Amino acid sequence: MRLLIVEDEARLASALQRGLANEGFTVEVAHTGPDGLHAAQEGDFDALILDIMLPGMSGYRIIETLRADENWVPILMLTAKDGEYDEADALDLGADDYLTKPFSFVVLLARIRALLRRGVTPRPARLQVDDLVLDPAAHTVRRGETPIELTPREFSLLEFLMRRAGDAVSKGDILHHVWDANYDGDANVVEVYVGYLRRKIDVPFDLQSLQTVRGAGYRLTSSVGAGVSAD
Ligand code: CA
Repeated sequence: MRLLIVEDEARLASALQRGLANEGFTVEVAHTGPDGLHAAQEGDFDALILDIMLPGMSGYRIIETLRADENWVPILMLTAKDGEYDEADALDLGADDYLTKPFSFVVLLARIRALLRRGVTPRPARLQVDDLVLDPAAHTVRRGETPIELTPREFSLLEFLMRRAGDAVSKGDILHHVWDANYDGDANVVEVYVGYLRRKIDVPFDLQSLQTVRGAGYRLTSSVGAGVSAD
């Protein structure tokens, strides 16, 4: 099995390389972000061990780029508790697992073996309704070529609606899935956020894709259908 280690701490990288080679793996090492990305794109590896803070390009950018290219090689992130990043970010961006430094080699080996057993698992493809495209792994939204900046809540709401595109979704369903299940505030918050979303995904493009369905809730569609009001 071929592994790529992208790690700029030379001593850690060579210790990992030796240890993994002793376990029978073929191991390559890259010490900068750009070298790591290039190796990952060209090298046909069975798994990647990827540091986050790297010279030239962060591990996050490497994951984003690989996943955007639909490269689903299993990735184990090495995260340092430097307060700048949350481990959950690594998983959001498409890593398969993470280890917080310092870690034991035995644990790393077990995690790598688990990733290799699981093999390549394609992520849900990008969600698309007409020219509105949401990428859950890269956390980006665009309409045509225009990138759209959304707050985390707006992003969750749009993702929920896009996964059910064409269906009417009730306010209650939206509250339950997009807000905390125990949210007991005003249900009108959904209306407010639908308004925010429309101002970002529809109004600037002179579209009405996010529609109000009287008595039922909201529906994201590719075209305005009969019996639907897009107030
Ligand atoms: Ca580093």
